[in-house]
Amino acid sequence: MLLSIREAFALFDEDQISKRRDTCSLSHFTRTRPQYVKLANNMPHNMCLCTYHSKYIEAVTTLCKKVQNIPNYDNSFVNHFLCKESSIACWYGNCEKCSGKFVSKMEEFVLNTPSTSTLKWSAWEKDVSTKRVEKKEKSGNMDELINYVNNLWPQFLEHSFNKREQALTFNEFDRPRALSTALVGEGLLQIDFAENYVCEAQDEVQNAHWNQRQLTLFKRGFYYNNALQAKVYVSDNLSHTKDTIVTYLWKLLSSLPSSLKILKISSDGPSSQFKNKFIAALIPYLEIKFGIKIFRNYFATSHGKGCVDGIGATVKTVVRKHVIARNIIK
Ligand SMILES: [Zn+2]
Ligand SMILES: [Zn+2]
Repeated sequence: MLLSIREAFALFDEDQISKRRDTCSLSHFTRTRPQYVKLANNMPHNMCLCTYHSKYIEAVTTLCKKVQNIPNYDNSFVNHFLCKESSIACWYGNCEKCSGKFVSKMEEFVLNTPSTSTLKWSAWEKDVSTKRVEKKEKSGNMDELINYVNNLWPQFLEHSFNKREQALTFNEFDRPRALSTALVGEGLLQIDFAENYVCEAQDEVQNAHWNQRQLTLFKRGFYYNNALQAKVYVSDNLSHTKDTIVTYLWKLLSSLPSSLKILKISSDGPSSQFKNKFIAALIPYLEIKFGIKIFRNYFATSHGKGCVDGIGATVKTVVRKHVIARNIIK
């Protein structure tokens, strides 16, 4: 699970209420979690959080533990500091009523909180010397932590608003349209790279273990005419740049039905891969070549989640099972 249990509960609660169904307590929700749903802190490797969210969550969680009467942290935490009927102006920091509300409300909460010793929290940051993104420990008093969150606040709000709107458009508008049988001719394509597949063998000598080949997995989920078609393109070319993306796109578009007239392509937004002038310049050529109108949509950084995540993981699991059973290479 990529959410905290509180965030998952808040979504469940919201969904139940919107459907006028009974809800339950957080403790009941936690107790009845199916065993196959692993908590985020039990996952061996979670690379799915973006830097905006991870920095914010780390710092705000520390705040929530230390400050009395503050609302518990979940994905609706920001709403306590925005107007009740929030608009884009609130999220973009242009609303006169709620701009600066975070600091003023926090000052109220802190009034009732006994002074604490040094607080510690962590943040993923780029190290200037190693040029790697590393987890750094931060410390400071309550005022410094509030100031730290307040500095993250404008960028985090903008990022969250974009993420929510994009997810809403994808789930409530683009996907139902593409799946509708009444709108044949309109499709939705989600594309992404999976983490490279490492070609491990079941019985390998030690030298081979430290020098394994890798494969690129390029995933696509195609929503069209009441069906989702999933596919993974496998290549020994390990480049994930614009050059290879053009080849994958070409191959992919060649495989789509001839009845398709309008195609929306959604992807994550790294500029080294999908979101750059080279790919944008290619689109008109692809439109002419394949006779379709193409629209490009980009998810907020590190939020290109959807069916394509499941596709990559499923393919890797199936292949690994066969490798372990010695069914693959004779
Ligand atoms: Zn994020
Ligand atoms: Zn406002």
